[in-house]
Amino acid sequence: MIDDPRTSALAGLHERLHECRLCLEAGYDIYPRAIFSGELGARIMVIGQAPGITEKEAGRPFNAGSGTRLFQWLAEAGIEETWFRSTQYMCSVTRCYPGRSASGSGDRVPSRAEQMLCRPYLDAEIALIDPALIVPVGRLAIQLFYPADLILEEIIGTEKQIDGRWIVPLPHPSGASRWHQTEANRQRVRKAIQLIKIHKV
Ligand code: SF4
Repeated sequence: MIDDPRTSALAGLHERLHECRLCLEAGYDIYPRAIFSGELGARIMVIGQAPGITEKEAGRPFNAGSGTRLFQWLAEAGIEETWFRSTQYMCSVTRCYPGRSASGSGDRVPSRAEQMLCRPYLDAEIALIDPALIVPVGRLAIQLFYPADLILEEIIGTEKQIDGRWIVPLPHPSGASRWHQTEANRQRVRKAIQLIKIHKV
């Protein structure tokens, strides 16, 4: 059997992520533990914004409340959580818990500089995993594929192709977010779920 060189490349990348202290060295008071999951063979890649405190404590992406709602949405596309977590890829724009916001209400949004420091890992993962469908979740992740001044109402429920991959964005599933709680936006989320259902196979 011929070894797939991507296997060792991805293992090396994961090792570098686990050892990464770039944001600490740049002066950001992050908790240096990269949170992500998945291996080669994944067809779907979910990209979140950054780990929250429950992800930091559990050591897995989209834990607790946000994960519960995300997987409720994905279940409507025929995607089961245990299968997804063990076979597909989950990561985020920045990988380490950024700490509380200055106001103390909620988690800090990673700075542009932190996003840029972490970006090469994501680019390398996309190249190695080669997913057919990318689901960016939340504005920070959606901005990877759309203009920075994007309007969520115009984007959620639509799809686009980049380099042959389908991109289907979802809003942040946090219970604190009011965006997905209006009927018009729930309808947009339902359209996005239908697109994920089409492109997941
Ligand atoms: S967020 Fe990314 S770049 Fe920053 S320390 Fe963690 S792994 Fe490294």
